[in-house]
Amino acid sequence: MTERALATIRKIEEIAPIEGADKIEVARVGGWRVVVKKGEFQVGQLAVYFEIDSWIPHDLAPFLTRPGKEPAEFNGVKGQRLRTVRLRGQISQGLLLPIIDTCGMDFIGFTVNGFFVTGNYNEGDDFTEKLNVQKWEKPIPSNMQGIMRGNFPSCVPKTDQERVQNIKTSVLEQYVGHHFEVTEKMDGSSCTMLLDSEGLFHVCSRNVDLERDESNVYWQMAIKYDVKAKLRELIALGGSMAIQGEICGPGIQGNQYEFTEPDFFVYDMYDPGTATYCPPGIRQSIVEALGLKHVPVIVMGTLQSANRDVLLEDAKDCSVFNKTPREGLVFKLNSKDRFSFKVISNDWLEKYE
Ligand code: AMP
Ligand code: MN
Repeated sequence: MTERALATIRKIEEIAPIEGADKIEVARVGGWRVVVKKGEFQVGQLAVYFEIDSWIPHDLAPFLTRPGKEPAEFNGVKGQRLRTVRLRGQISQGLLLPIIDTCGMDFIGFTVNGFFVTGNYNEGDDFTEKLNVQKWEKPIPSNMQGIMRGNFPSCVPKTDQERVQNIKTSVLEQYVGHHFEVTEKMDGSSCTMLLDSEGLFHVCSRNVDLERDESNVYWQMAIKYDVKAKLRELIALGGSMAIQGEICGPGIQGNQYEFTEPDFFVYDMYDPGTATYCPPGIRQSIVEALGLKHVPVIVMGTLQSANRDVLLEDAKDCSVFNKTPREGLVFKLNSKDRFSFKVISNDWLEKYE
């Protein structure tokens, strides 16, 4: 997945006025809307788009830091994080910069006025690495850090999901009428537990395989639910199996659900032997039979619309756990074939991010 493609060349697909504003307007790239200076972009033009949660090095876009203020630092890089903002009532997500075309001269940089300068680009090109743009992540609390045992197991995919705004309407259209699982996206920490083909049990955070440690919340969940024994039951005839879910609780991402203790909610099962995910409907039954918790299933049904704005509106609702806005929805094709994406609620982004 292109979770890391944060700075890409995109075509401006639409420009619309903002009511009551005469100096700004709103441009659309894919499913993203960005407030821009009036007249700065034309429909059909290529521009560089930086997605929300991009960490932009200060020298690329110094105008993001208020004059007289010191830029913040992330992973040793001074810069700014792109957040969801609202300008004159219009939601704005990410940053669009116009391109100065050097006509083949292989030179990349930013002018002081926030132009992107390059001579070599095509729609879809990914400049994330070249521009040293990183994905901003919340700092990890100490009960979650743990001691690294190794790298994330290469036989299991990481749990990232593509954002609906980055999925082409033409792709979504192919899935209208197909059966999907829609679950509540929970704002916690990703956890992967794996019983590998040698019988070794791994407990992993989003990116790291963790040493056994009872003070670490990932291992606490593995022990509480005896996941190792449950996976062994599942693969009694040999093989390997991974279970992936979200840990939520006190001290994790602000604990917006107000849980009194940490808990683990499964959203995927993956068989490294056959390199396949368990289809959603079957996964739900297995999770129940094993006595594990599942992320809330909002609906099992056919995809009604390929309109990203409609899906973004659907994402806006309360969490099933309390009256707080939910983070969003995750759509997964209910099939042996994998197709999935996340729809983050803009209400949630404005409240919590
Ligand atoms: P993000 O949190 O924006 O990085 O989105 C991807 C992450 O959502 C995954 O890595 C999971 O840890 C997490 N997640 C939370 N709830 C769900 C869910 N219901 N289905 C799939 N992933 C989920
Ligand atoms: Mn998350």
